[in-house]
Amino acid sequence: MIVVLTGAPGAGKGTQADLIAEKLGYKKISTGDALRRQIQIGSDIGKQAQSIMAEGRLVPDSVLLGILKSELDAAGSKPVLLDGYPRNLAQAKALQDLVGTGLIKAAVHLDVDYQSLANRITGRRTCVQCGASYHVANSPARVEGVCDKCGGSLIQRPDDDAEKVKTRLQIYENDTRPILDFYRDLGLYHRVDGNSPAPKVFAELSGLLQSLGT
Ligand code: ADP
Repeated sequence: MIVVLTGAPGAGKGTQADLIAEKLGYKKISTGDALRRQIQIGSDIGKQAQSIMAEGRLVPDSVLLGILKSELDAAGSKPVLLDGYPRNLAQAKALQDLVGTGLIKAAVHLDVDYQSLANRITGRRTCVQCGASYHVANSPARVEGVCDKCGGSLIQRPDDDAEKVKTRLQIYENDTRPILDFYRDLGLYHRVDGNSPAPKVFAELSGLLQSLGT
């Protein structure tokens, strides 16, 4: 069983996906995290992805499909939450072809006002070690620059600076937003208001997942 969590960069997908994994027992698959791991270990995929990601563009679909397959294999029989995939129509169709119809239970759109997105992203700080995410103003780490969870260093991701964020939001509008209609047509689309503080968003999201029987 698969739930797709979609939304613009900065909508809070990663934060919510972590909560859903922790509290509802889902296996979170984040393609962004998977790609960053490939960069960290210096694999061929990582080398190919590094400059593309730093510019805020999309990594080729064929690379992502390989990552998706191996992550799904590793999930076993757990319910899966997809964070960051699909990001365009071709990926949405590839996912359907891969898992077949019926397995995708919902596509949840975490919807956040456009003006908040850039502020959320440029203030974000990410742990180099465990990927945990903070915000300089909204949810700072207890000790500046140090991850509360694992003690790793907090950095600004190369694609989180103001200029790259513009590219990412544009790509979201052009490439990713059309998947909302794709899932609407399949009767799988659900919207959750992502403008509230994270715990309130999570309450709405978990209520929705439970009402869907997922
Ligand atoms: P955000 O959702 O905030 O943009 P992610 O960590 O999900 O952050 O993604 C960071 C980057 O990783 C993207 O800008 C893109 O370069 C790459 N990426 C992640 N998922 C995909 C995907 N499904 N297809 C193509 N590129 C991807």
